[in-house]
Amino acid sequence: MELVILGSGGCVSTPRACCSCRICAQAREKGFPYARTGCSLFIEGADILIDTPEDINTALNNARIQKVGHILYSHCDPDHTMGMRVIEQLRMDWLAVSEGKALQDPVEVASLPVILEDIRKLSTKYGSVMGYYESRGLVRTRGIRAFEVNDILVELIPVDAQEHVAVFVISSDGRKVIYAPCDVKPFPASDRFRGADVLIIGNTIVGDVLKDGFVLEEGNPLRKELFTLDEISGIRRQYGISKVIITHLEEDWGKSYDDYRALEEELDSIFFAYDGLRIRL
Ligand SMILES: [Zn+2]
Ligand SMILES: [Zn+2]
Repeated sequence: MELVILGSGGCVSTPRACCSCRICAQAREKGFPYARTGCSLFIEGADILIDTPEDINTALNNARIQKVGHILYSHCDPDHTMGMRVIEQLRMDWLAVSEGKALQDPVEVASLPVILEDIRKLSTKYGSVMGYYESRGLVRTRGIRAFEVNDILVELIPVDAQEHVAVFVISSDGRKVIYAPCDVKPFPASDRFRGADVLIIGNTIVGDVLKDGFVLEEGNPLRKELFTLDEISGIRRQYGISKVIITHLEEDWGKSYDDYRALEEELDSIFFAYDGLRIRL
């Protein structure tokens, strides 16, 4: 099994337009892996893309992805969905359309039924964007709880009873990866997480000193909304997970690619994602 972190950034990509902070200036100068696009993952061999942030086209090019057959969504928040126009980049052929030819090989778009309904609600004055793609034959959609392609099983675990957010358990050949990019606190309980090789998780605040020396006080609400590194270690121990990779890294954390590499040295089995990182199991 091979997974690719296409995008390791958060709600705000790095470099942030018009920002001259140390992190953004360096990312602008050096490009990837100092630069980070919005949070997304690719499953090689199954051609599955998880989530479409605004800069997903750039991320797919950076990782040299050859084909996207399926798009799964974790939830409908804009930082994970607003790049859905990539579907046009992947399948639209205006020249064929100009001759009245039907488009071939639609992308399969799938998620938990409730999430799929949320995605359908994303619209312009012309109506549902996904509905438009469906009517043009660019996609077909399917509500699912599990998905299997080429011996790679992807299970969608709802974060709570409302089922508006999913955690993915990706398994093949006895190996298992959990992908929990966003809005996963409190972390759901599931036996399916037990003994995973890797947990790739977002929703985490990294450190007590953030961008431009901002000190995160004890009472700051971000501490409730996001996991601390100690809480991440707790999840790792609870489920006997071998290794954690933290993704969805916000520009606001004020840390560069080099800073994250240095931080890994101080931590036990916790690593940090970067764009183009390949995870082979
Ligand atoms: Zn910046
Ligand atoms: Zn997010």
